[in-house]
Amino acid sequence: ALRCGLVGLPNVGKSTIFNALSNAGAESANYPFCTIDPNVGVVPVPDDRLDTLAKMAESAEVTPATIEFFDIAGLVEGASEGEGLGNKFLANIREVDAIVHVVRCFDDENVVHVSGSVDPVRDIEVINTELLLKDMESVEKRIEKQRKPAKSGDKEAAKELEVCEKLHDHLSDGHPARSFEGREWEMEIVEELFLLTSKPVLYAANVDESALPEGNEHVDAVREVAREEGSEVVVISAEVESQIAQLDDPEERALFLEEMGLEKSGLERLIRAAYDLLGLITFFTAGPKEARAWQLTRGLHAPQAAGKIHSDFEKGFIKAETIHYSDYEKHGSEAAARKAGVMRAEGKEYEVKDGDVMLFRFNV
Ligand code: GDP
Repeated sequence: ALRCGLVGLPNVGKSTIFNALSNAGAESANYPFCTIDPNVGVVPVPDDRLDTLAKMAESAEVTPATIEFFDIAGLVEGASEGEGLGNKFLANIREVDAIVHVVRCFDDENVVHVSGSVDPVRDIEVINTELLLKDMESVEKRIEKQRKPAKSGDKEAAKELEVCEKLHDHLSDGHPARSFEGREWEMEIVEELFLLTSKPVLYAANVDESALPEGNEHVDAVREVAREEGSEVVVISAEVESQIAQLDDPEERALFLEEMGLEKSGLERLIRAAYDLLGLITFFTAGPKEARAWQLTRGLHAPQAAGKIHSDFEKGFIKAETIHYSDYEKHGSEAAARKAGVMRAEGKEYEVKDGDVMLFRFNV
């Protein structure tokens, strides 16, 4: 499963958000949402289409797509030099597929700020600097390793050395690896370094209730940083989310959100944004037994979608009978959609689209 890591300075609200996320996971009855380890939670991806599909297909079970969230607490200034178990936390970040950077955007005298004041731009810089320093260290190691063979005429090593030196300059200028540009073979070398700043990032601006839904001046500052980087910002109140997570009744929850002037909970928006950040789309399978949402990396083809369900489906793939969700909904059932002629038989080359409802035909 794909993993998102929650990172940020201490006391910015990571655990509060993580606990609310874990609660959201624990509530969903149809899936074994367990906390794998105290810092990892499996969270269902909210999708109204799945519930509608389940009703239309009269499915006995409903299974949402999921992503994992990882609470990576304890990053502080100096982490790249091992400060405060820094190396352990940085190693944790290496294992995630995307980063949710939680930033404190609330003023509260009762909550101590590690640097003494609320300043999200400085906070972001502190964390990003640690990640950059760690990456520079990785690249330097690589450079040292290639220097000798390059000198003795190893062409591959020479190429790698050249790319790593360019990359090192880029990082030293304060730019993350994800904004490094090069030719395809150069990017392949960069990818193999598994750098921390290669990972996609989104910012979660943690605000007080009073700043919902638009945000406040701190959030504006975060937006400015994010805009320059091409990252997304989700405005969320960790405290409000933990209150919402305690409401069991969906109607009560809806009412609470309405009072707050929110259409969807911050968690829902955060989970959706993380899903997009990971480059995922959803396809569905729907029958009397189960309606299920499956996640797939954008750009993959029908046999690979089949392979998500079972490797045999991919090996013996013949075709995928495909109805787009919007057609399915319009006609009200699979049978009606078939009759209306909106079901397509898609082959091996078909790129799966978000919202496709698929039935795979395969040889065993
Ligand atoms: P972490 O160290 O980043 O995991 O931060 P925590 O989630 O443990 O939160 C640190 C403190 O800030 C706790 O006392 C929380 O109750 C408080 N806190 C978290 N989010 C908010 C918020 O949105 N508003 C206010 N006023 N306090 C918050």
